[in-house]
Amino acid sequence: MIEMTADIVVIGSGPAGQKAAIQAAKLNKKVIVVEKLQAPGGNCLYYGTIPSKTIREAIVDLTRFNERNFYDIMPDVGEISVDQLGGRLHRVLDEERTIIWRQFKKNNIELLQGSARFVDQNHLEITDDSNVVLYKIQSSYFMIATGSKPRNPLDVPFDTEVILDSTRMLKALKIPKTAIVLGGGIIGAEYASFFAPLGTEVTIVDKRDHILPMLDAEIGIHLQTALTDLGLKFLGNKEPALVERRNDHAYVLFKDGSHIEADVLLYALGREASIDGLGLENLGVFVNAKGYIPVNALFQTAIPTVYAIGDVIGGPSLASTSMEQGRLAALHACGVETHSFPEVFPIGIYTIPEISCCGYTEEQLKQLGYRYEVGRAYYYEIARSHIVGSNVGLFKILFHSDTLEILGVHIVGRAATEVIHIGQVAMSFGAKVNYFIDQVFNYPTFAEGYRIAALNGYNKIRH
Ligand SMILES: Cc1cc2nc3c(=O)[nH]c(=O)nc-3n(C[C@H](O)[C@H](O)[C@H](O)COP(=O)(O)OP(=O)(O)OC[C@H]3O[C@@H](n4cnc5c(N)ncnc54)[C@H](O)[C@@H]3O)c2cc1C
Repeated sequence: MIEMTADIVVIGSGPAGQKAAIQAAKLNKKVIVVEKLQAPGGNCLYYGTIPSKTIREAIVDLTRFNERNFYDIMPDVGEISVDQLGGRLHRVLDEERTIIWRQFKKNNIELLQGSARFVDQNHLEITDDSNVVLYKIQSSYFMIATGSKPRNPLDVPFDTEVILDSTRMLKALKIPKTAIVLGGGIIGAEYASFFAPLGTEVTIVDKRDHILPMLDAEIGIHLQTALTDLGLKFLGNKEPALVERRNDHAYVLFKDGSHIEADVLLYALGREASIDGLGLENLGVFVNAKGYIPVNALFQTAIPTVYAIGDVIGGPSLASTSMEQGRLAALHACGVETHSFPEVFPIGIYTIPEISCCGYTEEQLKQLGYRYEVGRAYYYEIARSHIVGSNVGLFKILFHSDTLEILGVHIVGRAATEVIHIGQVAMSFGAKVNYFIDQVFNYPTFAEGYRIAALNGYNKIRH
């Protein structure tokens, strides 16, 4: 067993842990990162954001999805192989992993492989798979960035071929003829939409009557229509009573007595904090009712020198927000004055078509009693959409009827996750909707949607 000391120990090398470690190292702190996987990157790199977005991009390219409206001769989707998807995936993972290694090395961050367990508020033990203690580290500050994992009930017989979660799916990548996706949240909706262009008959099932309920309802309806056009089926108001494997098939019996079968089932009914074996009880830190570690606005747990960041503290559970939480927590631990976590941040959902939003939904504005107006631009009104063959989509800007302040931006359609940042920046500077009218935009671009939507909304006020 090796004894070590550090200024800050970061547990977990996902987006939250990486950014915390790099920020602290930039401030000349001696930083150790502990990671139980064989290489750094977190679930984000191996089972979450990066693989899912890489598979999406590969499918869009290989099916020539965006060119379908133009050419008669299109690839036979039946010929697209798992090897083609996997090949691209491995290349991207290699490149991303190399960058993380390089950043750790450049900043003198020491990476230790093993599982971390708190002994007390200043000591951590690192064990191997056989629970042998490899290292004991003393440190003044700790960052818990252990992320999340699929919330899998014990009575669902998960395997690596038929009954899968988002982690297992990547280990057993295949293109099934039929698939059931249980759960119409972000992960379920994304994967369902990826496989539909490959010809897989996909059915999404949810206990609610529509998918992605957190979205602005109009954007949600727009997406659901686009997914239906892709061939995706949706079964709402259904709750599973039994999930089992029957020979080579997944079988689901619903509480209303109906049932469904498919080649593959993706179980996507939520995630939970990864805290097993972390020894939180030795710290005196306890999880909240939802199983996440409670923190204050500075990401401190009940023990002020122990911070928790990323998915382990619960929503919004995004790689993007986790990174900023990590950076802010490290600045605070290093005694640097920081701002609080931004109120305005975007959410990106990479369904086909993709969605991104920032600020209030129309439903929230109604509930809060705002006087608001809506500006809309449909993708078919934007020249760039015609050129690239993506006419499906909508820009929706919500703004205050009296002050004209922008209160929300919601986009469904091609490049939504990129162009949202224009709306985000405008909102964070308190811009009014006529800002988009008074500026010149590159033409032809998707960003022109802001101008068209702003004009649409502003003209309603003027008249
Ligand atoms: C399918 C899928 C798609 C997603 N798509 C997006 C997206 O498009 N955009 C987006 O912003 N977000 C997306 N997310 C969410 C995003 O991946 C997470 O929000 C992000 O990974 C959280 O980062 P993190 O640093 O908190 O933890 P993680 O990335 O979960 O990393 C935690 C790390 O801690 C390690 N660890 C855990 N316990 C210990 C221990 N005791 N000792 C040592 N190491 C430990 C784990 O091995 C892991 O490597 C997606 C998630 C999934 C599942």
